[in-house]
Amino acid sequence: MRGKPIYTIIAPIYNEIDNIQALYDRVSAVMDGTGESWEFVMVDDGSSDGSTAAILDLAAKDDKIVPVIFARNFGHQIAVTAGLDRSQGEAVIIIDADLQDPPEVILQLIEKWREGYEVVYAVRSKREGESWFKLFSAAAFYRLIQRITDINLPMDTGDFRLLDRKVVQVLNGMREKHRFLRGMSVWVGFRQTGVEYERAERFAGETKYPLKKMFRLASDAITGFSYFPLQLATYLGFFVAGLSILAIPAVVILRMTGSHPLLGQATTLIAVLFLGGVQLISLGILGAYIGRLYDEARDRPLYIVREDLEVKQEQADKTAGE
Ligand code: UDP
Ligand code: MG
Repeated sequence: MRGKPIYTIIAPIYNEIDNIQALYDRVSAVMDGTGESWEFVMVDDGSSDGSTAAILDLAAKDDKIVPVIFARNFGHQIAVTAGLDRSQGEAVIIIDADLQDPPEVILQLIEKWREGYEVVYAVRSKREGESWFKLFSAAAFYRLIQRITDINLPMDTGDFRLLDRKVVQVLNGMREKHRFLRGMSVWVGFRQTGVEYERAERFAGETKYPLKKMFRLASDAITGFSYFPLQLATYLGFFVAGLSILAIPAVVILRMTGSHPLLGQATTLIAVLFLGGVQLISLGILGAYIGRLYDEARDRPLYIVREDLEVKQEQADKTAGE
């Protein structure tokens, strides 16, 4: 058995067949340059384009690679979680598989870690080749989170970051089902700092984050760290109730002076529809929180690993020992 490495690199991989070799080459060049021991946890998040075989091929050639093969697509955040669960390094670095996070920046993250920081996140100072919609939605999202949650999420950071083993241990103990790891790694505290970098274009392939997944991540972030949407119903309720109390004397005066007859069903209809809408939205918000409560209560595993090579190895060792 190998001893525990100093560094663990984690890459979540979902249909990144044209990126895997380049990722491996560039990460290896950087990490071998440190002269210290490292491992590379490649989490295959239910790929269907041959990425799985590519990962297993690399793992057969290089025992620094720890393959984790999911039984289906569980999503980016869960894939990273599985990587954290498997990691053994003293410092753990999470990096995207599409080389948008340049592996060379890892050295800067490590430098800060050596200075004593326990969470070193990479801040995107510039982004290449992303649509205006992505840039706009990301900017709006970070500002919203900043306002309505009590965590101080640094602007323009992704999951590209270094976590000290102490932080990883705490995160591994937090088994919430709807995970927003950037928020969680801020929430835990510790000494944190950022390093700026220019986010590159995707090396190959298309984004694996369609609008639906972006929305899901955003709502997990909001519900995971804020009660604000739940309070919204209360605020709106007070506002509308206040408005109608003000309306009572107004209506009485208008009637008594006879200056305005107040005819028309349209006004009534608008008021009813408006309040009906507000109530349905509030119910939906309640539903979002209750659904998440339900997921926690049901307590299904966060992910299912199709091929558990480590377990297989342990079993093989056991039968060999018998
Ligand atoms: N990813 C994943 N599971 C998913 C979606 C994405 O493991 O369901 C991985 C993907 O392979 C990549 C990383 O998460 O390594 C970031 O995804 P992507 O580059 O598509 O997101 P973007 O950079 O466009 O926000
Ligand atoms: Mg990307």
